[in-house]
Amino acid sequence: MKSAPNGSEWAATGQDGGAAAIAPVVAPSGVAGAASAAVTSGPARASDTWLGRSVRALAFASLDVLAPRFCVGCGEAARGRSAEAFCDACAPGAPVCWEANCIPASAVGFYRGPLEAAVHALKYGKRPDLARPLGDLLHDPWTELALEADALVPVPLHPRRLRERGYNQAALLAARLASATGTPARLRALRRIRETRPLPGLDRAERAAQLAGAIVARRPLTDARIILVDDVVTSGSTVDVCVQALEDAGACVVAVVALARADSKSGS
Ligand SMILES: [Zn+2]
Repeated sequence: MKSAPNGSEWAATGQDGGAAAIAPVVAPSGVAGAASAAVTSGPARASDTWLGRSVRALAFASLDVLAPRFCVGCGEAARGRSAEAFCDACAPGAPVCWEANCIPASAVGFYRGPLEAAVHALKYGKRPDLARPLGDLLHDPWTELALEADALVPVPLHPRRLRERGYNQAALLAARLASATGTPARLRALRRIRETRPLPGLDRAERAAQLAGAIVARRPLTDARIILVDDVVTSGSTVDVCVQALEDAGACVVAVVALARADSKSGS
């Protein structure tokens, strides 16, 4: 494993990705979120002490047990081991593996049904808490690839989109996978310098032309073996641009890990 040229960037969390937004999974009513606000607000800052942290951890643990969990695929209340994101009926099966422009790629499943609903909630439903259970699901594709890497790098969001959403879902997923695998996440390695809109009517070459130069590496990554992390991989155009940016910085992209693989008609 490579040493970290910049501790904050090699850490499994980072401001740019909003990884700190990962919270316990609770009912959509956001019980834990309210509890968190209650604990972290106020002038006393008692939560900064070890006792405060212990009380907070206990409070979250209690909520974790007591709060009903709802399957993000079908909305049914669910309990038990598989209730982190899905009920047993909606739980994904074996990972999907393919090659994204000659790079081994693996996803939790195809972008349809419960997995599509989950990704949609994570990206557009203001549910960053889902990054925890969904990030845990990335462990199966990761294991399927069985590759060594020096760092996980998420596909970046444009700063304006990041401000709107409040977090980069790919960064949250990468941070969660990093904590599970021990491979560092380099959440700010790539930067989207030009905003592009998904245009479903474009073919791969047209998408590639639209995205060319839109993503760059912040600094050299000489000889680093990178696993690129995204929520949904569609045509592979975004992957191609990220791979090019990382290779221009001296890195080698050894694999792509994603939550879902979509067909080329539905996104980027
Ligand atoms: Zn379900």
